[in-house]
Amino acid sequence: MSFTLAIVGRPNVGKSTLFNRLVGRKLALVDDQPGVTRDLREGDAKLFDLRFTVIDTAGLEEVTDDSLQGRMRRLTERAVDMADISLFLIDGRVGVTPSDETFAEILRKKGKTVIVGVNKAEGKAGDGGAIEAWSLGLGEPIRLSAEHGEGIDDLYRALLPFE
Ligand code: GDP
Ligand code: MG
Repeated sequence: MSFTLAIVGRPNVGKSTLFNRLVGRKLALVDDQPGVTRDLREGDAKLFDLRFTVIDTAGLEEVTDDSLQGRMRRLTERAVDMADISLFLIDGRVGVTPSDETFAEILRKKGKTVIVGVNKAEGKAGDGGAIEAWSLGLGEPIRLSAEHGEGIDDLYRALLPFE
């Protein structure tokens, strides 16, 4: 049995970088400039011996401020509905933002399985963010560096029960 994992979170936290690492191909665009990727993107993920479907949520980057909340909510809900598990990423260097709290609220209301990932946590960079992430009330955060491949073993361990 396989599962589907949705990577959700506000723009620029590293969702597409992680998606690319899991899929092993440059399917999702990654850019320093928010505004590059759109909508939802699906790929076949490989994580050691685990095989699953991964969804990258994008499309939140280009919208104007007044439609951001609604569009963010719709896209995230679509991805979460399609998935068995959601990986909610925050930026460990920035910590928990009001936008992250909005996402946490959406995810809590869905009542489905959520794993919190504190990305950009290579070295000691994510120490503060990892502690703050507990305040989201979605369980124990996993420290990750999508770019440098750190914490991938912890992500594996968190996903293993869903195989
Ligand atoms: P998305 O908008 O959530 O899909 O974020 P992207 O994957 O496009 O990444 C946004 C920016 O964060 C890019 O400049 C990435 O190179 C950078 N980034 C992604 N993951 C990491 C990480 O683990 N560490 C650091 N330092 N930067 C990262
Ligand atoms: Mg992206």
